[in-house]
Amino acid sequence: MTTTSTAHAVSPDSGEHWSKEGAWRVADGIHRIPLPLPMDGLKAVNVYAIETDDGLTLIDGGWSIEVARDLLERCLRDIGFGFGDIRRFLVTHIHRDHYTLATVLGHEYAADVALGLDEKPGLDLLNGKLELTGNPFLDVLRTAGAHEVADQWAAGPAELPDPAWWQYPHTWLVGDQRIAVGDRTLDAVHTPGHTPGHFVFAEQAAGLLFAGDHVLPTITPSIGFTVPAVADPLGDFMASLTKVRALPDLTILPAHGPVAPSSHARVDELLVHHEKRLDLSLAALAGGPLTGHQVAHHLPWTRHDHAYDELDLFAQGMASMETKAHLDLLVAQGRASAEHTADGVRYSATG
Ligand SMILES: [Zn+2]
Repeated sequence: MTTTSTAHAVSPDSGEHWSKEGAWRVADGIHRIPLPLPMDGLKAVNVYAIETDDGLTLIDGGWSIEVARDLLERCLRDIGFGFGDIRRFLVTHIHRDHYTLATVLGHEYAADVALGLDEKPGLDLLNGKLELTGNPFLDVLRTAGAHEVADQWAAGPAELPDPAWWQYPHTWLVGDQRIAVGDRTLDAVHTPGHTPGHFVFAEQAAGLLFAGDHVLPTITPSIGFTVPAVADPLGDFMASLTKVRALPDLTILPAHGPVAPSSHARVDELLVHHEKRLDLSLAALAGGPLTGHQVAHHLPWTRHDHAYDELDLFAQGMASMETKAHLDLLVAQGRASAEHTADGVRYSATG
């Protein structure tokens, strides 16, 4: 959730701010289509349309709202296609801005929808198959010690999940695999971290990485904003960054932001960013056992280095959960210990 740079917001494919609407050609037979995310700080989500002799494969689908659906239809028409030409959606992860329009259109137009298997617990939760007493993020906030934030989130409008948005995929992606898309080959690479079932898709022959939210060029993806909660999301994320770093250096086709030249350079920056925040979090523990929420007050937030109290209520919750993820990784590394209390998990530096 930390913005690190906006200097490169112009995308080389459009020559415009990356969120400008259109079907922008990023490579032979591949178009980037930014779709709006109203009321969301991210501005837009990029859907990528890959042409084949047999129709289209789309990477991600966008958020299932009318304005996004209409724009996607218009942009596909501009490049000579309609919704009926979509054969398959490869969805990077479960979040609504990526998954919901894919699953709605996939079921309406009989296109195959593929999603990582480790998103199934999240979908089960949204489909009422796991017991749900209120907003599941509140429990995560409380274990992070952010009780006031949780109380205020709880007082907000309750949104019931729309069942059409959360229909199950036709295909579960299980483990790394090769996927043929026309005469292209995509390497589907499991990259847990931002969410447990996140996948990226690499077309190594063309030097392209459909990166979802795993490697974003100007911001860092939220970590720890996941239900059901996972044990060590930041550890998962950093291991997944290292995994993608082991691929050749690829052009980043991100879900949010402009096309960017080097997956290696950006992965290195992201790893350094989190190493630095791990060190800052550990240093904060010198003051005694603290919760994630308390440590978050010691850290700078956003590219403007805002204090925690300057963040809005939603960002405060995200910040507390993300700080808890840093502390959980310190525990996994043996640099801190955790004690579960009624107040949340309290962390102490070891040694
Ligand atoms: Zn996203």
